[in-house]
Amino acid sequence: MIKEEYKQMSCSDIGTRCGFQVRAKSGDEIMEHAKMHATKAQGMKEVWPETEMKIKAAIKTVSVDMSESVPKESILTTRQDFKFK
Ligand SMILES: [Zn+2]
Repeated sequence: MIKEEYKQMSCSDIGTRCGFQVRAKSGDEIMEHAKMHATKAQGMKEVWPETEMKIKAAIKTVSVDMSESVPKESILTTRQDFKFK
C-alpha cells in the first residue's frame, strides 16, 4: 500500500452546510479552490480575510491510499455529490 500525504479541506469544517471538499498537494492550491468555490458556489462577492483564516485553519493533512483507482492527476478532487437537504 502506497500512502501519500495530501492537504484536505471541507466546507463543513468551517460551518458551511455543503459537501464541498478539496484535496491538493499544497495549502496554496487548497486556498485557490476554496476561494473559487466560495465565490462561485456560495455567491460571495469576495473572500474576506476572516474567511480566509477560517479556511486556513480548517486545512488538515490526510494520507491518501494511492492504490485506490484514482489517477494521480485527478487526485485533486472536488466533491459535491452529497448535499444537505
Ligand atoms: Zn461550500
